[in-house]
Amino acid sequence: MAKKKRKRKKKRKVIPMTWARKVSNWNSGIKKRGSDLRLDYKTLDIPEKCTYCEVKLVPRNTSLDHNLPIQRGGKDSMSNYRFICFPCNRSKGTLTGEEYLNLVIVLNSLGKYTRNLILRKLRSAWRIR
Ligand SMILES: [Zn+2]
Repeated sequence: MAKKKRKRKKKRKVIPMTWARKVSNWNSGIKKRGSDLRLDYKTLDIPEKCTYCEVKLVPRNTSLDHNLPIQRGGKDSMSNYRFICFPCNRSKGTLTGEEYLNLVIVLNSLGKYTRNLILRKLRSAWRIR
């Protein structure tokens, strides 16, 4: 039997996510898309809760959403930005904020199980493009 060398797992440093780091990540994305706009975490008005599911927003779960998605002609601008949670952003896909809000209202009327099931299906569906 061949000797198995146990490789030591490298310890990964866990860097805490702060708003400063988060905003810096967003700024790199904005830059990549060719916009000159830059966000400043000190003056950024990030709501306490996600607009759609009301989960508490912390740096680790917050994403920069385009109310009108870029794929549908949306631009990088403060008026087009929404700060929402990652799961909502993934479920929203290329829906506009209004379309997604209407969807959430309908889904909420169906009960928690059905709502979560459909939102999960949506999240995986948007990934295939
Ligand atoms: Zn949410």
